[in-house]
Amino acid sequence: MSSDTPRTALISPSWVSKSTFRSWIDRTAANFASQKEPEATYGGNAEIWKPAVCGRAYTGRVTETAALKPTLFLDRDGVLNEDQGYVCRWADFRWIAGAREAVADFNRAGWLVIVVTNQSGVGRGYYTEAEVHELHRHMQADLANFGAHIDAFYHAPQHPDAILEIYRHPDPPLRKPNPGMILQALAEWPIDREASLLVGDKASDLEAAARAGIRAVLFEGGDLRAFLGALSLP
Ligand SMILES: [Mg+2]
Repeated sequence: MSSDTPRTALISPSWVSKSTFRSWIDRTAANFASQKEPEATYGGNAEIWKPAVCGRAYTGRVTETAALKPTLFLDRDGVLNEDQGYVCRWADFRWIAGAREAVADFNRAGWLVIVVTNQSGVGRGYYTEAEVHELHRHMQADLANFGAHIDAFYHAPQHPDAILEIYRHPDPPLRKPNPGMILQALAEWPIDREASLLVGDKASDLEAAARAGIRAVLFEGGDLRAFLGALSLP
């Protein structure tokens, strides 16, 4: 495959039920509904990419294909930790059962593990991006106790109703259900798109994945390791 040949496609934005997921694994190509490019441009939204708002912009596709890795994309609240609403303090953070063990499994299997999390609490002024980073540092430290790690965290602080102007945008490209965070990860990491999977607990997670050409599955609670193990993953 040519290194810069588009190999991606948009898939149907319908949800992927657990019951259909196993067969989908075996029929990945057939489920890519078209050969369109993923959404990599954001008409009228260019200002959102200024570095002060979101760090590095989407810079283009990965050109190396030799070492592409399957990647587990994880929503954070409701998948890795209990979603208590605007979780921002480590003291309030409660891991989902089996979450740390699941991350360790995927690390050992050679997958990248990348978190993509909406954090409109930043834009709403409830907490700062520094506090988001601090919470993620605590998560990494605790994961290390399980021989696990997250390869990258992407967060979307923007919201249409953000109190802080720099985070206010009518339709933030990074904020799920838009695919910006996933596209950014695809640009910055050697990801095998077709072998990758996103786990989310909301329709917006699955829509973002679909729009980035990533398979997705809905996690409705319980033990994350058992949930993924039932899918024969990793
Ligand atoms: Mg969630």
